[in-house]
Amino acid sequence: MMGSARNEEIFAISVEDRVLLHAPLHRVTALVDQTGAAQIAAGLASNNPASNREIQSIVEWLRDKPDPAPVERSGPIDQPLFLGLIPTRGCNLGCRYCDFPADDSNEKMKLELARDAVDAYLDLILQSGKAECEIHFFGGEPFFAPAVVQFVVEHARMRAAHSGISLHLEATTNGYYPANVAEWIADCFDTIVLSLDGPADFHDIQRMTKNQRPTFEVVFENARIFSGSQIELCIRTCVTSKIASALPEIAEWFSQELQPATVCFETLTPSPQTEKAGLIPPDPWEFAREFLAAEKVLAGYGLNAVNSMTEIQSLQISCCPVGKDALIVAPNGRVDACYLLPESWEQRGLDMNLGQIRVKGDVPILELEETSVRRARGLNVNNKLRCAECVCRYHCAGGCHVNHPGDAPTGQFDELCIQTRIITIARLLKGLGQHDLASKWLGSRRAMEASVFQQSDFLSGETL
Ligand code: SF4
Ligand code: SF4
Ligand code: SF4
Repeated sequence: MMGSARNEEIFAISVEDRVLLHAPLHRVTALVDQTGAAQIAAGLASNNPASNREIQSIVEWLRDKPDPAPVERSGPIDQPLFLGLIPTRGCNLGCRYCDFPADDSNEKMKLELARDAVDAYLDLILQSGKAECEIHFFGGEPFFAPAVVQFVVEHARMRAAHSGISLHLEATTNGYYPANVAEWIADCFDTIVLSLDGPADFHDIQRMTKNQRPTFEVVFENARIFSGSQIELCIRTCVTSKIASALPEIAEWFSQELQPATVCFETLTPSPQTEKAGLIPPDPWEFAREFLAAEKVLAGYGLNAVNSMTEIQSLQISCCPVGKDALIVAPNGRVDACYLLPESWEQRGLDMNLGQIRVKGDVPILELEETSVRRARGLNVNNKLRCAECVCRYHCAGGCHVNHPGDAPTGQFDELCIQTRIITIARLLKGLGQHDLASKWLGSRRAMEASVFQQSDFLSGETL
């Protein structure tokens, strides 16, 4: 007899003639046949034991109290994820897909503001009793304002040492500067997220200087400096339709030449600028397959492949700094939840501003608005209709809040959802050792469509 109750938090995906069960809050992932899945649904809806012992033990695990679901943060911000600093919105490059609207103002953060931001952040960390702090630099290109970065690094190191707390320094960078700058970065920073789109043939068709000159040679030389240092090197590759089919080849090249800790493949975010440049995101079915093939290549070298929406190891309700109380300070002293230009959120009807750096008396403070903090925290998967019944909800968490709005109806999956669902399902299968089934499934568009376009993933006896 089949149960008909919908089991929220227990997801069931048809894969070929099997059913992949994934209950992240119960820490259960299993592959069963259709009959087994129906018996599990029935077992959960009644107290009758299943005749099959394996099925009965799955039912028992699923009846156990699950881990609590990740929840929205509350109260004042006292455990910020990190301090983000944007030394400048300007950049020395003119990448064809740049989604930062042209900002040639070259406004650089004033050193007094940078110092106040670091001091206010470290005071908050000390008040919270934490022994670690993190400062991340974003842009534009942060090293386009080298004096600001250098000042912050020295000041933050001095203050952290004086207060007995450890300091983690991270920057997202294009790597286009003289080698002596790269050497200084390698000496001072803990983590570098370097934009590099593969060997010259791939990189130079997407990433160039403002006057259209290639950048590969300089970026690669600096990547080698990072690679040969103690720094944790994360390479970030923007995947367009032009390079998607070469991801395994690119992964092989990264592995042999640079041995980065991780390679993050993210698909192009389409915008009027990218359209004008003739660049489009890859076909999601192709991207998913090529990403998984690239992941296999990297794994052969002991390296990690990352895609921000498909990290099945983590349980989260936001896949980015937004909602996790990151404090990102713009060159004008605004404190925001997201590093994009305000115009980008405003176009989507969002407000990511949290407050402002102020000085009261002689003391710099983070003046944060309670309602703004609540609004940013509310941007999470629990408020995204599209994601309500999706197996990826606690991993992907809806993706970027600005570029991937979640207000579509439940189960209405777009291209980003398609690739996310394929990669997540394949990773879950591989985690169970089901490599042959994963390969067979990935080889059949019909089979993948049947899994990907399930409108609801909740386990329900009625739908099996
Ligand atoms: S390095 Fe980044 S900010 Fe600069 S042009 Fe390229 S994508 Fe835009
Ligand atoms: S519906 Fe799409 S965006 Fe939402 S969790 Fe699923 S894959 Fe992610
Ligand atoms: S909202 Fe989007 S752009 Fe902003 S931090 Fe999150 S992922 Fe990045």
